[in-house]
Amino acid sequence: MKELIGLSFDALTQELIAMGEKPFRAKQLWHWIYNKGETDFSKMTTLAKPFQAKLAGLYTVTHPKIVTEQTSVDRTRKWLVEFQDGKQVECVYIPEADRGAVCISTQVGCAQGCRFCHTGTQKMMRNLTAGEIVGQFMTARDSYGEWPTPTDETRYLSNIVVMGMGEPLYNFDHLKTALRILMDGDGIAISKRKITVSTAGMADHIPELADLGVKLAVSLHAPNDDIRNQIMPINRKFPLKTLIEACKEYQRRSERRQFITMEYVMLKGINDQPEHARELMELVKGLEVKFNLIPFHYWDGAPFEPSSNNAIHRFSKILEENWFAAPIRRSRGEDIMAACGQLKSAKGNIDKG
Ligand code: SF4
Repeated sequence: MKELIGLSFDALTQELIAMGEKPFRAKQLWHWIYNKGETDFSKMTTLAKPFQAKLAGLYTVTHPKIVTEQTSVDRTRKWLVEFQDGKQVECVYIPEADRGAVCISTQVGCAQGCRFCHTGTQKMMRNLTAGEIVGQFMTARDSYGEWPTPTDETRYLSNIVVMGMGEPLYNFDHLKTALRILMDGDGIAISKRKITVSTAGMADHIPELADLGVKLAVSLHAPNDDIRNQIMPINRKFPLKTLIEACKEYQRRSERRQFITMEYVMLKGINDQPEHARELMELVKGLEVKFNLIPFHYWDGAPFEPSSNNAIHRFSKILEENWFAAPIRRSRGEDIMAACGQLKSAKGNIDKG
């Protein structure tokens, strides 16, 4: 049986034409799947019964299964979800007062091996399909009962950050299809302005994110190549000069010269000194950026220690005195290991296939 979630609208239309159905049926089916969140063909009441039966004989509509769900004291919620082949990833909802962002994954494990990242210690198993990327958000909506698609003003799950497990731009084709589905106004309808894609620095795809209209976050974490080579292997392939040039091209191509968020994890004695802050400002000259300073969360066996509060505040102050926004990220969901860089699906490597 073929899974329908993850097919682009055109691909879905082609499936129906191949079944001998009229193309306009695709619009109805799309609405049931992505606006109403319905997975049972027999409950899609605007479709004729014989058509429902035909669909049920050929296709499935499946949201990833929730294996565990944990809610933090600060209301952050984390799910371990499982796909059809038994592979699992984590995704997280980070609530604010009346809205919030769902952080979704794009790969099972990660091949990048950033040395400060817990996910990076988990072997890369495979890319997620477009359907599996979209499906995580649909499962989050199941958990909060946000079906049918609420209006922009009334939804809690208002934003998407592609910052979970994996390097999104190493799974770019599936990511692009998934984003187009998530943004489609007749379905899930998350506006492009409310989606942020984070990359460890795969420079060659960065400018294309401007064409999709989504926001960009870069896991920068170092002010020079020496330090970045030590902590992020991807820097040997895409050194800072190439990465910054790609960011400039992203801004040239984006509609309103979209700000870029530079993520910067604070590692004691590695990248947290005043001279690093000054070097950083030099590095991003010519770009519109804001920094996001992330206190490092120690995990068992991590080769780094967290910077002191003093060092983090001193670093932030230097940047802010020079007119850069440089907030210190408030840690969320630490008690359930849902904070940045902590995601790891212990059973991610199980292969039932
Ligand atoms: S920071 Fe991102 S790219 Fe680097 S190892 Fe972790 S998940 Fe992979």
